[in-house]
Amino acid sequence: MLQQTQVKTVIPYWERWLRELPDLVALAGAHEQRLLKLWEGLGYYTRVRNLQRAAQHVLRVHAGIFPRDLAALLKLPGVGRYTAGAIASIAFNQPAPILDGNVMRVLTRLFAIAENPREKATNEGLWQLAGRLVESARLHSALIKKRSSLIFSGPHSALNQSLMELGATVCTPANPQCPRCPVRTHCAAHRENRIAELPNIAPRVVATRRKFYSFVVEHAGKLLVAQRPVGAVNAGLWEFPNLEIASWDSSPAVCLKQLLQITSRCQPCGEVTHSITRYRITQRVFRVIPKRLPHSARKLHWRSLEELHQLPFTAAHKRILAWARA
Ligand code: SF4
Repeated sequence: MLQQTQVKTVIPYWERWLRELPDLVALAGAHEQRLLKLWEGLGYYTRVRNLQRAAQHVLRVHAGIFPRDLAALLKLPGVGRYTAGAIASIAFNQPAPILDGNVMRVLTRLFAIAENPREKATNEGLWQLAGRLVESARLHSALIKKRSSLIFSGPHSALNQSLMELGATVCTPANPQCPRCPVRTHCAAHRENRIAELPNIAPRVVATRRKFYSFVVEHAGKLLVAQRPVGAVNAGLWEFPNLEIASWDSSPAVCLKQLLQITSRCQPCGEVTHSITRYRITQRVFRVIPKRLPHSARKLHWRSLEELHQLPFTAAHKRILAWARA
C-alpha cells in the first residue's frame, strides 16, 4: 500500500483491510471485485493483484509462513529489489540493502557522488554501497540503539529506517536542514559546498495534459457504467462512459452521439482533475437523460445507485459517482 502512497493516506485503508482480510487465507481466497473495492482510490491497482498472488504463493510454496530470506522474497509477485530489501531488513533485521529516492539522495550527498544515480553502473554502485552500510550496522549496534528513537528491532532494521527517515525529513530535495543533520560531519557534499548540485539527476519529464468528457446517463432510475477491460490501465474497475477529446471546443452532444449513439441534451455538472503518472487529466462531466435508448447503450451495464455503491470505481469516477447521487 505504501508504494507511491503517503502514510496518512494509507492508514484508513490499512485498518479496513485488516478488519476484512485479517490473514493470508482470507486474502488468497478473496474475490477480485472485493479486493478492488477495498483498494478503491489508492490507485496503482496492479499492487493489489500482486498482493493476492503473493499470498497464494506463500500459502502454496511456504506453507503459509512468510519467507525471511531475500532470494525467497524476490520470488513473490510484485516484490522487487527495493521491497524485498525493505521487508528483509525492517521486518526481519536481515543485512539487506534498500535504495529508494530518499536513500539515493542521502548517499549521493554523503559521499559526493557526481554521476547520475539513475544510470545503470552508478545505480548498481549505490546498491553496493547501501549493502556495505547495512552490513556494517552490526558493528555499531550499541550506538544506534542508544541514539535511535525508533523501536529497536535490530541494527540492520534501524540503519535502513534511519537512512529513509533522514532523506524524508532532513536531507530533503530542496533546502536540506544541514545544521540539524546528525551525519553532517561525515557529509562530503556539505564539506565541499556541493549540496545544490547533488544528486545529479535529469529534470522530470514535463507533464502532459489530457481532456475528457464523461457522461452520467440516467434512465428509469439506473445509471450507465462500463467495466475497464483486462489488460487496460485500472482493469476490472468501473467508470462512467467517457471520451478523450483534443479541445474543449468539442461539442459534448456530438461526442455523446459518437460514443453511445445517444442524441440528448448534455447538462454540465462539474469538473474532476487528477493525475496518473505524468498525465494531468481533466474530466468535464455531463448529466444526460435520454428519451430513447439506442441498442449500443444496452451493451453497457445499467445499475442502480445502491448497486453502484458496491462496485469498485477509479478515483476520478468515484468523485463523479458522488455527483450522480446529488
Ligand atoms: S549534511 Fe545536509 S546534505 Fe549532508 S546528509 Fe545532512 S542534510 Fe544531507
